[in-house]
Amino acid sequence: MKRIVIKVGSAVLTHKNEIAKERMLNLVHLIAKLRKKYDVVLVTSGAVAAGYSALKMDKTKQIGKKAIAAAGQPILMTSYKKKFDIFEIDTAQILLTEDDFDSRKRTKMLQDILDAHLNNDILPIVNENDITSTPEQLFGDNDQLSANVADAVGAELLVILSDIDGYYDKNPKESPDAKIYKVMNEIPEALLKDEATPNNEFATGGIVTKLKAADFMMKHGRKMFLTNGFDLSAAEAYLLNDTYISGTLFESNPNKEQ
Ligand code: ADP
Repeated sequence: MKRIVIKVGSAVLTHKNEIAKERMLNLVHLIAKLRKKYDVVLVTSGAVAAGYSALKMDKTKQIGKKAIAAAGQPILMTSYKKKFDIFEIDTAQILLTEDDFDSRKRTKMLQDILDAHLNNDILPIVNENDITSTPEQLFGDNDQLSANVADAVGAELLVILSDIDGYYDKNPKESPDAKIYKVMNEIPEALLKDEATPNNEFATGGIVTKLKAADFMMKHGRKMFLTNGFDLSAAEAYLLNDTYISGTLFESNPNKEQ
């Protein structure tokens, strides 16, 4: 089966400092449907938001954030497990850092583990292991982590679910007349250098890390689809029926000379 990686961000999974359970259930339901057509790996944020309900430390401070994430990771996974149980889907938790992609040996080990799960019908749920890692060991956002995971498992497509319909010519939250790009064949270098602009208080990525993920995917001959995670109909139509409703497909131009 074709492999895909689905990445969901805090903007979708969080509502008022808590896990948005209904949105999580909708996502789980979509993944259950997708698994009939694809081998799926899920990359999820949400540990800090999940932990904040149990441990109200200052999440802007490094130790506070790590302590909250450590408390939140099992809450997040329990929440997923309850929902995947409804569809009789077994899951595995995989916590990674940038270091895991540093050497061929380590990447191979990680690939073998993910292969073992996928070949045994288990859904790997990946998150960044930021608890005891230093900033240098971390991607710092799950957008770039998910692109590296997609490359490691040989997924042809990474789907990023966010709180916007796709990539626009300007921030749609600030400019209502912003226009969506349906397809992007390359990312202009200057855009990869813009400051990260996370929108949600738990988000660490912003649009720039999504563009970096898209750039990485295209440079590795893979595709990325950025679409809405609140309303999953565009993701479902694209993935299950090959139909475009909305979203941005990042795909390097096949005719372009290398
Ligand atoms: P997530 O938690 O899903 O990773 P983020 O908040 O990190 O989401 O990033 C998505 C946000 O990026 C959007 O809510 C939007 O406000 C912002 N953004 C900035 N510029 C753009 C743009 N050109 N197109 C789309 N979104 C943009």
